[in-house]
Amino acid sequence: MSGELWRKNLISIEPYVAGEQPKSEDIIKLNANENPYPPSPMVQKVIGEFNTDELKKYPSMDASLLRQAAAEYYGLKKENVFAGNGSDDILATAFRAFFNSDTPIVYPDVTYSFYPVWCSLLKIPYKTFEVNENFEINVEDYYAPNGGVVIPNPNAPTSVELGRDKIIDLLEHNRDCIVIIDEAYIDFGGQSSVELINKYDNLVVTQTFSKSRSLAGMRIAMAFANPELVSYMDAVKDSYNSYPVDSIAAAAGAAALKDREYFEETRGKIIATRDNFITALQAMGFRVLKSKTNFVFCTHPKYSAKDIFEYARSKNIYIRYFNKPRIDNYLRITIGTDGEMKALEQILREFVIK
Ligand code: PMP
Repeated sequence: MSGELWRKNLISIEPYVAGEQPKSEDIIKLNANENPYPPSPMVQKVIGEFNTDELKKYPSMDASLLRQAAAEYYGLKKENVFAGNGSDDILATAFRAFFNSDTPIVYPDVTYSFYPVWCSLLKIPYKTFEVNENFEINVEDYYAPNGGVVIPNPNAPTSVELGRDKIIDLLEHNRDCIVIIDEAYIDFGGQSSVELINKYDNLVVTQTFSKSRSLAGMRIAMAFANPELVSYMDAVKDSYNSYPVDSIAAAAGAAALKDREYFEETRGKIIATRDNFITALQAMGFRVLKSKTNFVFCTHPKYSAKDIFEYARSKNIYIRYFNKPRIDNYLRITIGTDGEMKALEQILREFVIK
């Protein structure tokens, strides 16, 4: 048919699917790894006192306030810090800036499902390596030459951490490509690789304010790398949107970083709730992976994960089920408050004991 040829040039893409965002207040939402606690009171103060007159001007091009606070937090220079609208924005920027080789980039087969989406959007060739039956990454797979490496640490949706020795091994065997460590969940018990940027000039570490700092709705994240790599990310950012973090977000993010006490208190609560919840799951016969995140990844030898997911949903508790190879009998459950986890425990007990 004439006049329809443009269709063949339309983008062909399978978009990332996020956890459902139900509107009802009655729902217990444990499906998007959000933090159940509000942001630091300092964030509320900064937003409340924000001089709206400032909003008539464009924000600082480099989110200066936020970069400075992030540098101070980690004892680095401001030139080591990049800021963006959530780590998805930063990761997409880094993929554009660093993954321009014809050799495939590599990442685990079970991992954050946005990576293949960006690869197909940006036409980056990629290859995956299988994690083992315990969902652990085998670093030796990554010794072979590649166009870049991206690894979430701890991994998502598995919650499994790759230890410091293994990260160093990975970096030692990948000196000729950029290695991105996505530390979205690092604050819930993992060991950060940020300080390694001083030793490895090809390392980029990304972190987000969406999880441990309760600011998912504000879209703020930071990345750490040597100044040269940061300047390449800035160049990419400035080429499509030179003002990535708005003025209120930059002020709120800086306030969140400064309130260490509140950060320690809330992440401590989530870790304690998680460990109690894991014990309860195990008592019901679930197999639970060792979690270093604000979620758990589990399976039950006798019941289908999909059935459990649907049962919990029918009781207004939303958890996450992925209908994907290797993980289609697993559930990813975000850690909420103690009360929310007790409510879920009760529902799960009803289901497995019946
Ligand atoms: N990386 C991983 C591994 C994640 O699970 C998420 C959350 N969906 C992100 C990055 C993105 O988080 P945000 O854009 O909210 O910073």
